[in-house]
Amino acid sequence: SDAGNVKVVVRCRAFVPREREAGRACIIRMDPATQKTLLLAPIDLNPSTTRRAYDDKEFTFDKSFWSHDESDPHYVHQEDVYRSFGEEFLDHNFEGYNTCIFAYGQTGSGKSYTMMGNQDQPGLIPRTCEELFERIERDPTPNTNYHVHVSYFEVYNEHVRDLLVPRTNPPAYLKIRESLKDGVYVQGLTEAEVRNYGDVKRLMECGDLSRTTAATKMNDTSSRSHAVFTIQLKQIQHSLLSDATIERCARMRLVDLAGSERANKTEAVGARLKEGGNINKSLTTLGRVIAALAKKGRTREIVPFRDSVLTYLLKDSLVGNSKTAMVACISPTDYDETLSTLRYADQAKRIRITASVNEDRVS
Ligand code: ADP
Ligand code: MG
Repeated sequence: SDAGNVKVVVRCRAFVPREREAGRACIIRMDPATQKTLLLAPIDLNPSTTRRAYDDKEFTFDKSFWSHDESDPHYVHQEDVYRSFGEEFLDHNFEGYNTCIFAYGQTGSGKSYTMMGNQDQPGLIPRTCEELFERIERDPTPNTNYHVHVSYFEVYNEHVRDLLVPRTNPPAYLKIRESLKDGVYVQGLTEAEVRNYGDVKRLMECGDLSRTTAATKMNDTSSRSHAVFTIQLKQIQHSLLSDATIERCARMRLVDLAGSERANKTEAVGARLKEGGNINKSLTTLGRVIAALAKKGRTREIVPFRDSVLTYLLKDSLVGNSKTAMVACISPTDYDETLSTLRYADQAKRIRITASVNEDRVS
């Protein structure tokens, strides 16, 4: 087994039309040589304001992805994010390690673009799945059998909903269970067997539609829900020489978190109180979990995994047996939210997790 820190990368997106039209300034700088990210204090144009002056802030992460300005020679495309960051996790899966990548950031910062992307610009999830099957098809050894399953669910308002089954009214919520053999799992969740990339693509589209349909009906659910896409890879290898059968299992989790502004602002009024409160619960608990884990070894603080659905489900990826990474997505114009995202990411990189290969001799 090997211990390593949570890998943390940061990605700055382009202006969206709204920002461009308003003539906003980009307050992020990234240095491709040092991977440093600089957040510039906004210049206060209104002298009557009582707000105190901001400071410039500097952070260093494992990678800084500059996706702001396509004409820049250091511009990072979707393909580059996959090659210099995502691909490594697929390598680990084939070696038999569990992995987890989660995207953190305020609504509109590029989490879904980075994880799922779109038809023209596919993100980490479709690229990973496509390459997974390419590798399987390319495998020259006839004595390995591969089994791939995927699941896709969302955590909304502390409820788990399967994104691979048609929506029902009222929605069908799934229960979380824990067993010695399987750890923490979602009971009754669809785990669809997939034989090629086309199978996965259909399921991703069906799941995203389920999430988007909800968004238009329910006041932008996607910014309030956490979406968890999971790929299970099982390799069964039979050695003709020793007549032994070895099973290697790996689980890859790709998580598109709810907008982090939910955890920062207490905007709860009236009917939105319960919803807002609960959304805060999973994300604020994740923040508390990360803070506690970042301090681990120095204090005996209890890590509050069980306090929210999301942290309970992600426990394995944060302390258990996993190679874990976080993509901190930032907007080029929002000082306060970006600072809070970068601080969050800075804590995450202090977490150490021990991972080992999941391999068993079955006969
Ligand atoms: P989030 O999921 O964090 O709410 P989105 O991924 O939906 O944010 O991104 C918000 C908008 O910005 C979308 O229109 C998306 O296409 C665009 N966008 C995000 N990241 C990039 C990027 N790296 N390059 C170009 N456009 C981007
Ligand atoms: Mg999104």
